[in-house]
Amino acid sequence: MESTLHEHLKVQSLYWLKDKMVDLCANEVKLFFRRKQVKADAVGINIKRKESRIIEVKVSRADFLRDSVLHEPYGYHALADYAYLMTPVGLLQLEEVPKGYGLLEMDEYDNITVKRNPTRNPNPILTFDTLIKRTGRAATNAVLFQELSKETKDLTKGTFSNGAKVHLINATCPACKKRKQYLVRSNQSEVTCKARACKQMIPLNKARVHFITAYNKTFFKQLTALMDEEID
Ligand SMILES: [Zn+2]
Repeated sequence: MESTLHEHLKVQSLYWLKDKMVDLCANEVKLFFRRKQVKADAVGINIKRKESRIIEVKVSRADFLRDSVLHEPYGYHALADYAYLMTPVGLLQLEEVPKGYGLLEMDEYDNITVKRNPTRNPNPILTFDTLIKRTGRAATNAVLFQELSKETKDLTKGTFSNGAKVHLINATCPACKKRKQYLVRSNQSEVTCKARACKQMIPLNKARVHFITAYNKTFFKQLTALMDEEID
């Protein structure tokens, strides 16, 4: 099963690719070479420059040491123009990174640093068209999936948001990477992570925060009235 941290780095890698001016990017891109299937954690495509980039996320040394695909003739570096490993800070020594691969490191506030640039593969074994097709399919699937989940949709449509000082937000904990919902005051600067056995403070100015909706005093009064009726 995929770890929360792995999932988190994988998603962040798309933001990094987007900053690199890619036109198309996606996670979980299924690539095939002859009969071998390789699932790339992320692929980014720049149409004008005809460049493809693959990012493979590793969050533990065991995960890195176990991945034989890195060294195969159909490995990530062989498939596209550029290939990177992306890890938490300090997981790998530069000399351990396989030949040709770049190294990206992400810190606890999701800042990504290029520790080593990849070398360009002069002859990718997949055509540029195939890489576009595969990445496009994965991106389409991701959009449709997101449409179904609607994690941050405001189901109250702002009914009780007028003049509200209490906000319902989604925030990711920098320590355990769990994304959860919190009720906070509008001027609140941090909140305690809800995850069991974590309880770290999440700085709201730095963490990835999504505003969902807000609740005002009218909401509180109506809720209190309804709760009281129920008790009577
Ligand atoms: Zn936490």
